Amino acid sequence: MSAPETAGARQRAGGLTPVVVAVVVTIAVLVWLLVDTSVLYLGYLGNPIAMAAGVFACQRIAREVRLSRPVRAFWRRLEHAGVCLLVGAVVALLRANNNTGLSPYVGVPFLIGLVLLISAFLMLPGPKRTAVGWIRALLDGATVAVASGLIFWYAVLDLAPEGTSMVGRIAAAVIGMGGILLLVVIGKAAARRESMVAPGALRVLAAAPIAAITGNMLLIAGDDWSRLALSVLAVPLIGVSFCVGALIQRRALSAGQPQESALSHRSLLNLLPFLAVTATAGLVITVSAQEMTSRQRTVIIGAVLIAGFVVARQLLSLRENTMALKGIQRQQAELERMALSDSLTGLPNRARFGAALAERISAHQPATAMLIDVDDFKMINDTLGPAAGDQLLYQVSQRLRERCEAGEMPARLGGDEFAVLLPVDEAEPAEAAAARLLLALADPFRVGDQMLLLHASAGIAPADTGESADEVLRNADIAMYAAKESGKASWVRFEPRMRQDMVNHARLASELQNGIIRGELRLLYQPVFDLVTGRLHGAEALVRWQHPTRGFVSPGEFIPVAERSGLIVPLGAWVLREACTQLARWRSSFGAGAIEAINVNVAVRQLREAGFVDEVAAVLSDTGLVPANLILEVTESSVIDGWQVRETLQALHEMGVRLALDDFGTGQSSLSLLRAFPVDVLKLDKSFVDGIADGEDRGRLAVAAAVAQLAEHLQLKAVAEGIESQEQVDRLRDMGYRYGQGFFMAKPLPADECGALMAADPVRAA
Ligand code: C2E
Ligand code: MG
Ligand code: MG
Repeated sequence: MSAPETAGARQRAGGLTPVVVAVVVTIAVLVWLLVDTSVLYLGYLGNPIAMAAGVFACQRIAREVRLSRPVRAFWRRLEHAGVCLLVGAVVALLRANNNTGLSPYVGVPFLIGLVLLISAFLMLPGPKRTAVGWIRALLDGATVAVASGLIFWYAVLDLAPEGTSMVGRIAAAVIGMGGILLLVVIGKAAARRESMVAPGALRVLAAAPIAAITGNMLLIAGDDWSRLALSVLAVPLIGVSFCVGALIQRRALSAGQPQESALSHRSLLNLLPFLAVTATAGLVITVSAQEMTSRQRTVIIGAVLIAGFVVARQLLSLRENTMALKGIQRQQAELERMALSDSLTGLPNRARFGAALAERISAHQPATAMLIDVDDFKMINDTLGPAAGDQLLYQVSQRLRERCEAGEMPARLGGDEFAVLLPVDEAEPAEAAAARLLLALADPFRVGDQMLLLHASAGIAPADTGESADEVLRNADIAMYAAKESGKASWVRFEPRMRQDMVNHARLASELQNGIIRGELRLLYQPVFDLVTGRLHGAEALVRWQHPTRGFVSPGEFIPVAERSGLIVPLGAWVLREACTQLARWRSSFGAGAIEAINVNVAVRQLREAGFVDEVAAVLSDTGLVPANLILEVTESSVIDGWQVRETLQALHEMGVRLALDDFGTGQSSLSLLRAFPVDVLKLDKSFVDGIADGEDRGRLAVAAAVAQLAEHLQLKAVAEGIESQEQVDRLRDMGYRYGQGFFMAKPLPADECGALMAADPVRAA
């Protein structure tokens, strides 16, 4: 056994020893009572021993630092009450041979003990009472006190043995009343749902007042033997209840406080005042039967009947209240359930997910949050309608539910955002789970009569030490955005540097927004040349941002930020209009000398906007251009983005706008893509052009050649990008490239310099 285990065992034994002592003593006293009572003080000896064990147990638990301060204070007060009872027990032992039943020397310490006991329960912290609550509690207490007082007073007056002194009678009556009051107080404390002392302990402690009440009854009304039985058994029983109560409190400490409904105890408890009234009525009837005239008796019977009716009526409304309370509790439970789950999918919602994650974190259990976002869900919702969107989300939730393994908790955080709580903290199993769940979402979904192919991106963040559930979720969110950025249908594991990137991007995005408003953007035009004739053929519009303090910001830096923040939509709209306006100007200035078409880059985010086709048409008609004057450059990744984007591209093609596949060869270039798409131009990526001149990189060389052949077969225009030398020009031309652009021929130029090239073109000018 290890050291902490031994300590734990010792602690448990420490709780058990007083219980054993008190119980053994009580049994011994019982045996003494039943077998031979001739040596009186032997019987009385049990009282102080059992009570000392009780005091010891209370003292031990009161020193338990793991308990809250009010609970410790409660056990300390109990200990003090126990000391008073112990004093009374010692006095009783000393006077054992002088047995006159009731003695003030015994009664007074007992009474003080009782008052301390009541105060211990009364001072337990509970919910704040309202004024009405206080009045109700006082009324209940007063009813019980008056009734028990009357009964005891009558019993003491009538039934006590002849020689009982006045002080003794009063003490007996007060102890009896106090016992009943204590019972009420303990009951109320135990019935409190948020009771801080272990409820089991409170219930066991109720044995003390029950012993006091029955004891008093026996003391007053019983025969000699029962009076003796009480004198020697009541205190040991109280001692046992202290010891067992302390033990239960200790056990509750190591098990964690259980939450139990207190409603049933509460309704029983509410009956106590009525019991008191009924008992008093019984007393009145008994007394009146013995001592009154028939007229007086009639009045009394009438009064008792009326009291009975009032009690019955009260009981009825009490029952109604209890039923209403139960209904409210049921509703509350239902509301709680609803508040913690998502109404569409039935999965746990964000609140529930956050709570479960926080729970694992605080229990130091391994946990990883995985955030899954359905790419382009908004588009589906916009085009197919919210009902289809809901259906899709429901099916996604079903798949997640089916493919989650034991211990994993899927949840819907809202919109198209799902999450899974994984019970692991290592990278490998978390990534395996991500792969498994994303794969589950890769199969087509049937919505109505449509089959939809979804892509989802996932971010994985382990719960690292010291991070809250919110922070872990935020990390997963950041990782998910990184996954979206890295190309879709993938997962990314969170790394701390991503957080800084995120902050930088957010800052850049807000500055870019201002930049667009303040007109800090402008366009440059990179000429595209005919490699055979050497003449100007076209131009690509490239956006530039001149930031007032940062200076020149490269599009490679701000375009991705614009895409992520959605700013690309207004930015792209401005670029499109500006580029078309410029072409219209050139065409009116240089006529046939001007280029025929302008190339404009379009981000996938723009293509996903429902009104994009209309916007293009409007710009063309506003600037007086025809669709043949415009070439939109899109990347391969946007072409595979989804059927919505494909439809947009198809509509543009049908309008007569030409489409160029930009950076061709770098993405997931597939031949079927080219066949399925209305593509007009292939732009070979610069990286392949780079590899051409040195002739070292045979792979790239082969790709460059293949793309040229492919373009020829499919009757597409092939344009080589990023040409930086004459040698590259020669080889590309030999391969079959008719057009090219690059710093070797011209860098991106301001509009007037580009216009000057058009004016200088002899053939066009003629
Ligand atoms: P892209 O569409 O592939 O544009 C070609 C890029 O290659 C341009 O960079 C151009 O300046 C650069 N380039 C051309 N010839 C050479 C060369 O010989 N050597 C080298 N080293 N580079 C050359 P830029 O202007 O920095 O643009 C980068 C990317 O930003 C563009 O790649 C495009 O994807 C994006 N972009 C630029 N303007 C826009 C815009 O208005 N809208 C959208 N959506 N994206 C834009
Ligand atoms: Mg381009
Ligand atoms: Mg390019």
